[in-house]
Amino acid sequence: MDLLVPPLGDFSEVVVIEVHIGGGDTVTVDQPILTLETEKATMDVPATEAGVVESMHVAVGDRVSTGDRILTLAAGQQPADAPAAADQPTAGGPAEQVSDAPQYQAGYGSPSGVYRSPQDGLTPVTTGATAPAHPTVQGEPDLDAEVLVLGAGPGGYTAAFRAADLGKHVVLVDRSPTLGGVCLNVGCIPSKALLHAAKVLAETEEMSEHGLRFGAPQVDLPALRGWKDDVVRRLTGGLAQLARQRKVTTVRGVGRFLSDSQLQVTGEDGTTQLVAFQQAIIAVGSEPVRLPFIPHDDPRVLDSTAALDLVDVPARLLVLGGGIIGLEMATVYSQLGSAVTVVELMDQLIPGADRDLVAPLAKRISTRYENVRLQTKVSAVQATDNGVQVTFDGPDGTGTDTFDKILVAVGRRPNGGLIDADRAGVTVDEHGFIPVDSQMRTNVPHVFAIGDVVGQPMLAHKATHEAKVAAEAAAGLPTHFDARVIPSVAYTDPEVAWAGVTENEAKAKGINYGTGTFPWAASGRA
Ligand SMILES: Cc1cc2nc3c(=O)[nH]c(=O)nc-3n(C[C@H](O)[C@H](O)[C@H](O)COP(=O)(O)OP(=O)(O)OC[C@H]3O[C@@H](n4cnc5c(N)ncnc54)[C@H](O)[C@@H]3O)c2cc1C
Repeated sequence: MDLLVPPLGDFSEVVVIEVHIGGGDTVTVDQPILTLETEKATMDVPATEAGVVESMHVAVGDRVSTGDRILTLAAGQQPADAPAAADQPTAGGPAEQVSDAPQYQAGYGSPSGVYRSPQDGLTPVTTGATAPAHPTVQGEPDLDAEVLVLGAGPGGYTAAFRAADLGKHVVLVDRSPTLGGVCLNVGCIPSKALLHAAKVLAETEEMSEHGLRFGAPQVDLPALRGWKDDVVRRLTGGLAQLARQRKVTTVRGVGRFLSDSQLQVTGEDGTTQLVAFQQAIIAVGSEPVRLPFIPHDDPRVLDSTAALDLVDVPARLLVLGGGIIGLEMATVYSQLGSAVTVVELMDQLIPGADRDLVAPLAKRISTRYENVRLQTKVSAVQATDNGVQVTFDGPDGTGTDTFDKILVAVGRRPNGGLIDADRAGVTVDEHGFIPVDSQMRTNVPHVFAIGDVVGQPMLAHKATHEAKVAAEAAAGLPTHFDARVIPSVAYTDPEVAWAGVTENEAKAKGINYGTGTFPWAASGRA
């Protein structure tokens, strides 16, 4: 049997930079056999079948394409301890969809957005009542975990992989069909893909004033959506591969604690599995805030997930909330052709950031958007036959306007209250956040919590860093979360970025500070 080069995405040819096996070697499923390199990344190609290598067809330096033969396995020789791909354990849940694409290690190190004030809640406080742990339920568990990870977003999958790398037997539970959580599926990745498209449109438009003229863009919405979905699929598929490689057992279903050593997972068909654990890491993230006076079930009322679906480009769009998520989506829809209005309760856009940092963005959108309403409250929203009617209460008094669609982007709330954490004795505060110490331990020492569910800022790179701390602490390593600053970026046009204490904060706290500015115009590259 031949093992072939898997689909290489956008690349027609890539270079082999390492060959990990040779003739006569035994390979197991998922064992890396080659490393390929493009100008952007390196990727391991895993074996898709187990066996003994009869002959190699590639060497270091070769250029290979999708479908090229890598090696031939000797007929009929299966290594005794290596089950074939179809026999791999599937965690007792529905069979996992595993992409055969190469494993792109998703990178979240890049600085990015704060979805509220940057330092809010960064040092969580251990307050609140502690419920007594529920007694252990009798009965045989379906799965045993040294480390159970609940939630497979950037926090959860990073914790699971790190714990597995440290030798732990890990069970990773998520209710979604794909790994990657909000960030990969309906957050950072699809939004950045669409923002890239928006940027291309903006740049070609601007260059027409400087001697480079293109025709009017033709936006093929299904194709654009397909490309964005494909970017997401490649990354989430790569994660499933990485989980298999590390022998992390993935289970699909909604998890709820039964006690401080047991979790029940309910699948879509209602079947349940009992997972017994020695240690647990809670990484259940957050979801969009819903406001009681808004008809969220009307298809013309979007949250960020629905906005990323890009079903159409509404003629008039209201973005409710001038924070990062709202403004990033406004950037996309405005560039695609919507007349955008942004409404914000505070007196500036991105209220957590310094006013002078936001000023260039505010200036640019003041001419491009239909309207930016600051210090304005939305007091009523009604779905009518003509559109979504919104009542504003602002400096100019009260008024109504009707939009084709509205995007509600007023913040995210943590999911800590939805997992029966009290049955494990874990404290959850009144907002749904789980207080933790600097090792990410909750008030129950063998239960950790990480990511959006432990506090602001809700950022993927904060979640991944906390994840490593929790996994290492669970493995007994002397590690702590001691980040002094966490960088933030709004990927709007222009982008806005900051790190550490803001000027607003320094003023409010009476911190002695100085300011330095460097004008864009003075930068040759800019
Ligand atoms: C539109 C948008 C754009 C964003 N862009 C950026 C960006 O550019 N940069 C950045 O740093 N951050 C960005 N963020 C924020 C980022 O997505 C989050 O900070 C990050 O995903 C948090 O990771 P997490 O692991 O804590 O949780 P999540 O990613 O929320 O993952 C939690 C997982 O837990 C699962 N889960 C929850 N409850 C249960 C349960 N009971 N049982 C089983 N599974 C459960 C969920 O299905 C989910 O998969 C963006 C967010 C949005 C919405």
